[in-house]
Amino acid sequence: MELFQKKVRLRTILHLDLDTFYVSVERLIDSSLQQKPLLVGGISDRGVVAACSYETRTFGVHSGMSMKIAKELCPEATVIKGNAGTYSKYSDIVTEIIKEKVPVLEKSSIDEFYADLSGMDKFFGAYKYASELRQKIISETGLPISLGFAQNKVVSKVATNEAKPNNQLKIDFGKEKPFLAPLSIKKIPMVGDKTFQTLRNLGVRQVKTIQDMPVDVMQRVLGANGLTIWKRANGIDDTPVIGFSERKSISTERTFDRDTIDVHKLRNILVAMTENLSYQLRRGNKLCACVAVKIRYSDFNTYSKQLKIPYTSADHVLIPKILGLFEKLYQKRLLVRLIGIRFSHLVTGNYQINLFEDNEKQLNLYKALDHIRNQYGDRSVIRAVAMGSKTIGRMQNPFNGQPPIVLAHRKQ
Ligand SMILES: [Mg+2]
Repeated sequence: MELFQKKVRLRTILHLDLDTFYVSVERLIDSSLQQKPLLVGGISDRGVVAACSYETRTFGVHSGMSMKIAKELCPEATVIKGNAGTYSKYSDIVTEIIKEKVPVLEKSSIDEFYADLSGMDKFFGAYKYASELRQKIISETGLPISLGFAQNKVVSKVATNEAKPNNQLKIDFGKEKPFLAPLSIKKIPMVGDKTFQTLRNLGVRQVKTIQDMPVDVMQRVLGANGLTIWKRANGIDDTPVIGFSERKSISTERTFDRDTIDVHKLRNILVAMTENLSYQLRRGNKLCACVAVKIRYSDFNTYSKQLKIPYTSADHVLIPKILGLFEKLYQKRLLVRLIGIRFSHLVTGNYQINLFEDNEKQLNLYKALDHIRNQYGDRSVIRAVAMGSKTIGRMQNPFNGQPPIVLAHRKQ
């Protein structure tokens, strides 16, 4: 009874990724930095490299490395303290250009995008269309960007990485497996250092070896991840492109049993809420670029105020923003029935964006605190001011139910 074969809908997926984004923006601002080795990140010896130019990579420099070591490896490099606000601005400019040109756009990080161009082929010639879009971004912004074009997200992303720097690559339908076969297993998205080591210990170097392995062997060695990695190695991926506007915000609010005018208490609750939500951001490997505060008074009139901010997931950045919004919004002496906060404009990304002000010490502090939260619950460590507020509510990872990816350094 093979009559009811599963219909396979062929998709056309475009992946766009700005090349060494922070470095490129710095070079746009100061053209004397072109072609010179460049390190962007925390500038003190305790700082961390957030991005590095291709010229530094031959010296063994990579992002996530301590600035001190990077400077030792490549002493001639120019070191620049990054600016999250500037990068957020350029990220938005590129987003706007793409958004106008594609039906469904997913912004997967500050410098990375997926678009679903399925069904466009007969009208426009989707690849030609994508190529023109890439040229438009380059000519309008001056920023180099690479693209991958394939039938799913995983293969298009790998194609972009193979095309880099400043180039493009199309993988024709049916050619996914031969394209992936000769590559290192490290090129498969999701193969982190630990998985890489496990597979290396088994003598697996090339994607082709995984393609030739029975799927149950992979599952036995790597558990549930084994199946996903096996599928990716074989060029199989049906995850959808999730439109930008559909991307969820995260929020929390609290209704009081008795209406209050205790400003001190309200502020402390807002701090506790911000701590909790920003932890949720980090746990979901997300950054937000818009924060909002909501107040409902005892007469049920509800007001909210929002603020666009540079991408971040750091408490020490978010708390002052939230408290600032509250000061502007709150009408003194009115009884408050409910307060709440919301983080929106979420993209995938880790704290690297905040590495510029922060040093390793601060980063390790976040890492340590989040580690305790992961183990003992999200209310196990809180700021002293937030201790008075009892319940913010315990939440699941609001993004995907996956375990946290804390400080997984982003590859460029
Ligand atoms: Mg990039």
